[in-house]
Amino acid sequence: METKKKAILLFSGGLDSILAAELLKRIGVEVYCVTFVTPFFSPETALIMASTYGYPIEIMPLPEKRYMPLLFDPPHGFGRHRNPCIDCHALMVEMAGKLMEERAFDFLATGEVLDERPKSQNLEALMKVDKASGYAGMVLRPLSAKLLPPTVPEISGWIKRSQLLAIRGRSRKEQLRLAEAWGISLYPTPAGGCLLTDQNYSRKLSRLIEHLGEDVSFRHAELLKIGRHFWLPPKTHLIVGRNEGENCKLEGLRSEEDWLIYPQNNKGPLALLRHYGHFFKTTILVAAKIVARYCKRSDAEVILMLRPPLDEAFELAIIPLSQEAVSLFRLESAGRPQDLASFLRDEGSAVSLDKLRSSLR
Ligand code: SF4
Repeated sequence: METKKKAILLFSGGLDSILAAELLKRIGVEVYCVTFVTPFFSPETALIMASTYGYPIEIMPLPEKRYMPLLFDPPHGFGRHRNPCIDCHALMVEMAGKLMEERAFDFLATGEVLDERPKSQNLEALMKVDKASGYAGMVLRPLSAKLLPPTVPEISGWIKRSQLLAIRGRSRKEQLRLAEAWGISLYPTPAGGCLLTDQNYSRKLSRLIEHLGEDVSFRHAELLKIGRHFWLPPKTHLIVGRNEGENCKLEGLRSEEDWLIYPQNNKGPLALLRHYGHFFKTTILVAAKIVARYCKRSDAEVILMLRPPLDEAFELAIIPLSQEAVSLFRLESAGRPQDLASFLRDEGSAVSLDKLRSSLR
């Protein structure tokens, strides 16, 4: 009796990947799902769908050291935003391929449909993914396999090409028909799910990479999900919480190098501040004035607590910056004032630098 062939399926939890799993099962292949995690996408949907349909699944974190360089200079370029889809997919296939070898599985599979995404799922892109992953020929795409070059499982006779499908393009008509025919009634609506394809998130990430270059890390990627972000010359990043939940998250993400800033005498946000390189007191002053703008009584003097890294907290009474001036410092905006001391003089700051200096000891 022939032994069952075993495939590792890259599983996102979307309808295509559910159909790919179902089709493989129906033709006698044992399916083991893997899904991936980075700060830019989560495995949640995949886990829910795998448990709904009873597929075994494993989460594979993509290593920061391998993933971040793809956001600086991906060999195959970016999609519409800062999404390095071809290289990201290639890394996923490579990791799944290594698992396949370690666990003695026979081949890899994905739920990709030819031309469903014009840039990252056309024939050329799929072939580039396979080549860059080091597993060319080992990746079966059962939903479109009849339209693609034959793969090892077909050439080896483990699977007949006639058992596979020829779905192509963006219409999901055939997938919906199959789902109904196979009793698959629960599946997520097609949605982004990856922050790198989100315009706002991508823009913030790009700005941070412009400022910090290859020092941008998974931690920055996590921070960019929370709060309002500001960049103060020469190299200071300020993040202001937008609600109680974000304040708590920011506090939890504080590292030993971060300042905390929060209001002492009225309600308002908690902010996290990090200097990269030299420390400038004027920068702290501008940061405090930005935080004061988001306090409840932002029309009057606000008393803030400033908690420097590894040092005692101190109070600072400060007049908020105008909303207009605050927007100059948003991470996303260009053309912020470079000379903060003269900017503060022009703003008519009510707090003298001497006062801040004495507070800072
Ligand atoms: S959309 Fe995001 S997760 Fe998907 S391949 Fe592109 S970069 Fe990777």
